[in-house]
Amino acid sequence: MSKVKFFFPDSHDFVDPTFDFETETNNEHRVIQRDDKYAHELFSKPVYDGILVSKAVVDGLNGVKGRYSVAQRQRFFREGIYKFFRLPKSYETMGDCGAFSYSDEYEPLYTIDEVNEFYTNSGFTHGISLDHIIFDFETPKKKVSGERLIECKRRQDITLTLAETFLKSNKDLNFTPYGVAHGWNPESYAESVKALQKMGYKRIAIGGMAYSRSHEILSVLKHVNEIRQPGTQLHLLGINRLNHIIEFSTFGVTSFDSTSPLMKGLKDDKLNYHTHGEDYTSIGLPQVDANNTMRNLVKKGIIDQNKAIDLERECLNAVIAFDKGTISKANVLNSLLKYENIYNSKASRIELMDKVLTDKPWKNCPCDVCQDIGIHVVLKRAAARNRRRGFHNLYIAYEKLQRELKQIQ
Ligand SMILES: [Zn+2]
Repeated sequence: MSKVKFFFPDSHDFVDPTFDFETETNNEHRVIQRDDKYAHELFSKPVYDGILVSKAVVDGLNGVKGRYSVAQRQRFFREGIYKFFRLPKSYETMGDCGAFSYSDEYEPLYTIDEVNEFYTNSGFTHGISLDHIIFDFETPKKKVSGERLIECKRRQDITLTLAETFLKSNKDLNFTPYGVAHGWNPESYAESVKALQKMGYKRIAIGGMAYSRSHEILSVLKHVNEIRQPGTQLHLLGINRLNHIIEFSTFGVTSFDSTSPLMKGLKDDKLNYHTHGEDYTSIGLPQVDANNTMRNLVKKGIIDQNKAIDLERECLNAVIAFDKGTISKANVLNSLLKYENIYNSKASRIELMDKVLTDKPWKNCPCDVCQDIGIHVVLKRAAARNRRRGFHNLYIAYEKLQRELKQIQ
């Protein structure tokens, strides 16, 4: 069994290493991105095998700016991907077009030349062909037919035609090309893979399955496997179902990418701090002056701003003191409950907070984030903490993958 590689799709995901968690201030001389740290810089061991960067994220699309500032974009091309990301050469780098960002358009908005230029100028090791996403997927109860079927076939044709041109143009370029297979059922995915193999592709990315269920992905992979040539390696684009990766790998999947562990930490409200055992829910501690919900409550006069700020500070001091062992759990919960009463009109989450404070999972996590910031990793409170929690989840996800890979070797 060859190693299954995990690519992390970067979307300007870095943190300020000088952020002070007690005073909540940044170093005033910090230059964003240049002085910040990516996950591969923050951890003392890898949390992914490579990064995936989309052209749409760097370059923007249709006159709309991407996530990069003009200066960052210029530096990205001047320095190349490895230097810009301060990424050791042992990591792989995969470029793609960001097909989600133009999925509503009739055709992809980039040309093959533009894509090739993006990949070669940036110095990627792998480049994914320009594609057009198919969103339909047949189920036994819901067949794709009529106009929708025509649209699915049209998009499949576009993707395959572009893949052929992309491969022909790639002969003198320095990255490994990936053709993209799209489909609306297992049979049509297999047809795409068959066509890509015929063109000469050895690496094929399976696209459009980010929201699919595990059994649907599995069914596609089984069909593809029937026509897959022994040397053809598959990449799964944007997959949430990390716990099925080993099973997927038995059908030729050698790599995948996913933002899921990071996004769970950043955006999710529930079970957003992962461990090798059970997952925990973070402790809500919204900022009165920065959190949208809080600001609205203040604006509408539902809560008193000064009282809220006092309670917020009381909670923050209490969790810090609890982590240092100077106050009891009951004291912290008392403060958290008083604060929650003013911002949460729904069912109380105090039991979930009790659970995480009882088990103190951050104390048992050897990752650099938990070791460095302690209890702050389980506070749901602004990007400095939430993104680090996402990074911690990346660490756990990668460790789980490595453990599973070891077991089957
Ligand atoms: Zn950790």
